[in-house]
Amino acid sequence: MPEKINLGDWQQIAPLFDQLDAKVRECRSPADLERWLLDSSELSAALNEEGSLRYIAMTCHTDSPEAEAAYLHFVERIEPELKPRQFKLSKLFLEHPLRLQLPKERYFLFDRNTQLQVELYRPENVPLETEEAKLSQQYQKLIGSLTVQFKGQERTLAQMGRYLEEPDRALRKEAWELMTNRRLQEAEQIETIFEQLLNLREQIAANAGFPDYLQYAFRARGRFDYTPQDCLKFHEAIEKEDMPALRQLQTQRRKQLGLDALRPWDLAVDPANKPPLRPFDKVETLVTDAGEIFSLLDDKMARDFRLMRDMRLLDLENRKGKAPGGYQSTLAESRLPFIFMNAVGMQRDVQTLLHEAGHAFHALAARGEDLLAYREAPIEFCEVASMSMELLGNEFIEKFYKPEDARRARQEHLKGIVEIFPWIATVDAFQHWIYSHPGHSRAARQKAWLELMDRFGGDVDWGGYGDARANWWHRQLHVFIHPFYYIEYGIAQLGALQVWANSKRDKAQALGQYHRALALGGSRPLPELFQAAGCRFDFSSQTVQPLLKLVSDELDKL
Ligand SMILES: [Zn+2]
Repeated sequence: MPEKINLGDWQQIAPLFDQLDAKVRECRSPADLERWLLDSSELSAALNEEGSLRYIAMTCHTDSPEAEAAYLHFVERIEPELKPRQFKLSKLFLEHPLRLQLPKERYFLFDRNTQLQVELYRPENVPLETEEAKLSQQYQKLIGSLTVQFKGQERTLAQMGRYLEEPDRALRKEAWELMTNRRLQEAEQIETIFEQLLNLREQIAANAGFPDYLQYAFRARGRFDYTPQDCLKFHEAIEKEDMPALRQLQTQRRKQLGLDALRPWDLAVDPANKPPLRPFDKVETLVTDAGEIFSLLDDKMARDFRLMRDMRLLDLENRKGKAPGGYQSTLAESRLPFIFMNAVGMQRDVQTLLHEAGHAFHALAARGEDLLAYREAPIEFCEVASMSMELLGNEFIEKFYKPEDARRARQEHLKGIVEIFPWIATVDAFQHWIYSHPGHSRAARQKAWLELMDRFGGDVDWGGYGDARANWWHRQLHVFIHPFYYIEYGIAQLGALQVWANSKRDKAQALGQYHRALALGGSRPLPELFQAAGCRFDFSSQTVQPLLKLVSDELDKL
């Protein structure tokens, strides 16, 4: 890369691709070809980092029109030019006669992923994908625009969420009904958007030569190491091993709240009607206390976190002009992580920082890898890195709390795990049904959804709200925007629970394995990454049962 270049100007970028196109023909030895791969990788990393920097700037300053324009310019003007050029590089690599002489062990995964990109690419799918992106955006816009009148003010559904935590039951019910009815008014439109997406997806799969979108999506997501049948096994394991624990938690909650039946608006409130936990006042305290937790875990984590702090790679506090949410972004060329979040002093903020720090440790661990593709692990394992940190960090959560509150923080986290597995199974099983029943009717889809609500919903009384229950999936963004992307969280949580279980037996060994697995980046297939972290890559009852028993036992102790 030249020292000075404007990566927002395609005229300056294109010659670099031209150079790479020409250079690949001059490769005379496998070593030349490896060098060429590193050069392509560096160009991709630099462009990737440019996109990240612009995204970070925009989310840190939503009130800056310049920052927004700079980001949009990159997305609209640079990225569409990049895709065909990167595709061409992939093809030049695959066609290269020296490719088969590259060291197998080192390159088979890179080779497999490059082949996949080329194999799935269909020029006729490009406009369909643009259409799909537009429809996705239409869904997001619709959901984001919904507001209700509550307590004399217009409020978004996101703002309404916190009223579901109110101890006043009548108020909760009112808030829940308002939100639910508002979404129900759009049910027809949401179904229409979904059906358009469904048609597009079936067409995209057919164009690429697949019998259905299920098969296509598994390929496109690079799921080489598990099959649709494995996902069905996961659903069964959750039904068998998690549902009893969920029902038990629901019964406890019902009794604690003194109710005859748990209604949909009773699920988010603290069952003992306690005020929210307050782990810190100032973000400085969040950083200091989190730093101490990492020091108690091990030196490497403490060092990594200190580095991020010293290099100002943390933007944690909520302030006006910042986008909502939290994320970790990796600056691909500098090989440094950045954490963005909106801390306001809640337990959720502690959880988020631990989670994103796990992603950041992952980025730092894989920093020594020169091939960009191998610095990034598959999502199923990325979330092992982050979810493990939540569990490991929670062991020392006393840094933030008195013993009584620490107990409650741990309890909330573990209950959250028992509660999320069935929802993951529901969302995943629903999509398996949808994309393996081409041409199904709206009524059949609804019936399939309701069967899953029966199977995984537990003991919640929806009496009088049948419509809301039948359309409850309308709120799950992934179904619309990232089809099939959800079970990853379930797979990763199983990994994280194993890391945590190992750490209870031998902390030093478990953390050593964790670090070694993170350092592999994306250079090894999923089962090997899990194995290196000391985990089994398996979603059947055999793996799920002991992990849920551990969570239940811990909850009993708490
Ligand atoms: Zn994450």
